Amino acid sequence: MTLPGEAKGSIRLRTTLLENNMTEIPRSHPRYESLVLREKLVEGFRAGYVVPQGLIAHGRGEMFDYLLGEKTTKEARIASRAAAALLLKAKRPVISVNGNVAALCPKEIVRLSEVAKARIEIGLFHRTDKRISAIQKILEDNGASDVLGFLPDASIPGLDSMRGLCTREGIFSADVVLIPLEDGDRAEALAKMKKKTIAVDLNPMSRTSRNAEVAIVDEVTRTIPEIIRNVEDLEGDSGSVKQALSKYDRDENLTAIRTKMAANLSRFLER
Ligand code: ATP
Repeated sequence: MTLPGEAKGSIRLRTTLLENNMTEIPRSHPRYESLVLREKLVEGFRAGYVVPQGLIAHGRGEMFDYLLGEKTTKEARIASRAAAALLLKAKRPVISVNGNVAALCPKEIVRLSEVAKARIEIGLFHRTDKRISAIQKILEDNGASDVLGFLPDASIPGLDSMRGLCTREGIFSADVVLIPLEDGDRAEALAKMKKKTIAVDLNPMSRTSRNAEVAIVDEVTRTIPEIIRNVEDLEGDSGSVKQALSKYDRDENLTAIRTKMAANLSRFLER
């Protein structure tokens, strides 16, 4: 059936998209970026490496992003610069990757691991070998060569056996761990191990944000490129690295973001 105003070519496109189970998103859509992220997650879900719980967690993140106007705040920029400084100062930095992160920004994760000289380790809440292999393949397709996580030989104290699995070479002996979209339990357990964690979490009230050495409250696909830019900018400049860290105060930063979210909400209520 031809829809009103629909040319023959667009029917073909529509059919192809349906065959591939994808949704056509017009560039002009006001929520284009947000819808593209959803599509990437749905694709990951269909391919089996994003779990349904991951889709729900993304929805929670979207709600907080809405309150930020879906923009990177000044506070997030300060936190990303501090994160870059911490990565540059680290002796054994590791980036922890889960299904959502692999679906949303694999290329950027690999690039960050290169510029920050950090290892990549896959760490999953709902762990299966099949999911780990699929995520490893995505990272390798995006240029990663040495992804950890498939063969764990250590465990994070305080977590149940499956969720605590990690590698001795990677997270277990890391001094700084970047934990985008991490669950609160694991973030707390890593903090107890005296790891310096860098959280990327849109919820400024989460245990993950409150336990991190540096908490970046921003959408992960905006954050990782921001950290890359800062690593490139700070590299070899110890004075600026020091300054980036001294300029950042986690609790002050989180309070400022919560205040910003509350103010935006009040403005909506006044309309
Ligand atoms: P808590 O830390 O309070 O115990 P939790 O363990 O329930 O929270 P999860 O829902 O497992 O947290 O973690 C997902 C977190 O990641 C949520 O707080 C959500 O706001 C955040 N999040 C989801 N998608 C994104 C995204 N694309 N970018 C940044 N943060 C995101």
